[in-house]
Amino acid sequence: MQKVKLPLTVDPVKDAQQRIDYDGYYTASQLVRLAESTGKVLSDAQVTLSFYIDPQKLVVMKGQVQVDVELECQRCGEPFKQTLECHFMYSPVANWDQADDLPEIYEPIEFNEFGEIDLLGAVEDELILALPLVPMHSSEHCEVSAHEQVFGELPEELAKKPNPFAVLANLKQK
Ligand SMILES: [Zn+2]
Repeated sequence: MQKVKLPLTVDPVKDAQQRIDYDGYYTASQLVRLAESTGKVLSDAQVTLSFYIDPQKLVVMKGQVQVDVELECQRCGEPFKQTLECHFMYSPVANWDQADDLPEIYEPIEFNEFGEIDLLGAVEDELILALPLVPMHSSEHCEVSAHEQVFGELPEELAKKPNPFAVLANLKQK
């Protein structure tokens, strides 16, 4: 199946009734919010989606997304490439009260006024949530750990950005 550029919104009810699958992408330039949350978006986001109606008659959008982004290592300060990958299952709801009734395996997503859902928004939300809280190189690639690796916990002075006053204090002592 050839990859298609995905629509920004979809009608999940119609797609679920027709049992539609998508194998597509969003271009890096479409991922504006993700770009703001990272150094850079390095690839298109590859997205696969399946729409169906579950045994409880709920409309389901099940999917997976993968994209490469550039993050700044919080240990050595150098940029590095990270692949974000997430899996998700949404069920559209008319309002947030309805969301409380959804089985926990589904995330709620709200219909817009045209009965469609914001597909790009949902995909971007998933990717932003998948960002590491403290981005770091794996230890074998990290500039800092190559010299000062300590197994187990990160030493406290490396976990924080260097304090310029502490550096000065050290100089004075020498
Ligand atoms: Zn690093």
